[in-house]
Amino acid sequence: MNDSELLAINEKFDLLFKTIGELQNQVSQQNDVIAHLLRAENASKVTMIKDDTERRLGKKHHVCRICGAEGDFDTFLSREMMQNKRDEFEYFECGECHCLQISEIPDNLGDYYGENYYSYALKEDPDRKYNVPVNNTDKILDVGCGTGVWLVSLADAGYGNLFGCDPFIERDIHYGDRVHIRKCTIHEMEGEGTFDRIRMGDSFEHMTDPEEALKSAAKLLKDDGVIEMAIPTYPNVAFELFGPHWYQLDAPRHIFLHSRKSLEYLADKAGLEVAAYQYNSNFGQMVRSFFYEHGVPFNDITAELVNRFFDQKNIDEFEAKAKECNETGYGDHMNVVFRKKTK
Ligand SMILES: [Zn+2]
Repeated sequence: MNDSELLAINEKFDLLFKTIGELQNQVSQQNDVIAHLLRAENASKVTMIKDDTERRLGKKHHVCRICGAEGDFDTFLSREMMQNKRDEFEYFECGECHCLQISEIPDNLGDYYGENYYSYALKEDPDRKYNVPVNNTDKILDVGCGTGVWLVSLADAGYGNLFGCDPFIERDIHYGDRVHIRKCTIHEMEGEGTFDRIRMGDSFEHMTDPEEALKSAAKLLKDDGVIEMAIPTYPNVAFELFGPHWYQLDAPRHIFLHSRKSLEYLADKAGLEVAAYQYNSNFGQMVRSFFYEHGVPFNDITAELVNRFFDQKNIDEFEAKAKECNETGYGDHMNVVFRKKTK
C-alpha cells in the first residue's frame, strides 16, 4: 500500500477514529457505573482498565524469518489475552515483506494451547454412518483440522474422500469410511500430487515453519488443485486503531501475521501463486481489540458486556467500516486461494 492509498483510507476512517476516541473517553467515566452495575447484578467479574503500557517500542534490529531481510524494524509489545495469562511478547514488522512476527518463538509454546483449545471437539466415531450418499469424490485435506469438525460437515453433505492432519490431537481419528485424520504434521502426510483441495483454516499463522509447510502442501497438491487459506492479515485497520492490542495478533500463538507480500514471497518459493484474495473481516476486529486494550480477556467478552458499551448503531457502523476495509484490502482477516504457478 502506498502513501496516497494509506491517506485515502485514513480519511475514510476519520469517523471511526472519532467514535473510538469518544468511546475510550467514555470508558473511564463509565467504569464506576459499569462496575457498580456488574456488582449489583453479580453478572460478571469483568473490570475495565485501559492499558497504559508503552507498546510501540520504536525500531530494533531484527532478521525477518520469512524473507531474510535484516534491519531496524518497528517493534511492538503484545500480551497474551486468550487464556488471560497476560505474558508479554515482542513482535516486529519486517521492513521488506511487512510480515508482523514474534521476535523470539517461546520454548514453552505448548503451554499456550490448553486442552480445550479446540472449541468444538467432536467425539471419534469409526462406525459413523452417513445419510447422504457420496456425491463428491474430490480428495480434500484439512491441515490443522483439530478433531475434524469441518471435514465431518463435508462428509455429512456427501463428500467421501476426506483427510486431515494435526500434530496436536491425541491420536488418529476416523469417522466412518469418509473422514480419516492423522496425528501428524503436514510434512508427514502421504499422497504426493493427489489432493484436489488443501485447506488451512486459521492454522498457517500458528506454524513456526511456514515456508516448509507451504512447500509440503504444494507437493501434496494435484497439478490443477487449490490450496485455500483462511488467515488473519496485517497491516489492517484494527492494528492501526489499537496497535498490538489487535485481538487477532493473538500472542504468542500467532507466530506470523502475514502481509500479502510475505504470502506471495512464500508462495513463489513453493512453486505456487495467489489466484485470489477475499477479505472477510467484521466488526469484531474493532470491538474485541477495544476490550483487549481495556484488559478484558477473550472469554469475558460476552454479548452482555459488548452491549454495555456499544449499541446497535455502533455495531452497524463498525460492520460498515469493516466492509469498506475488506474492499480496500485493509480488513484483518481474509481467504487466500493458491494454485500451482502457471508461468
Ligand atoms: Zn520479511
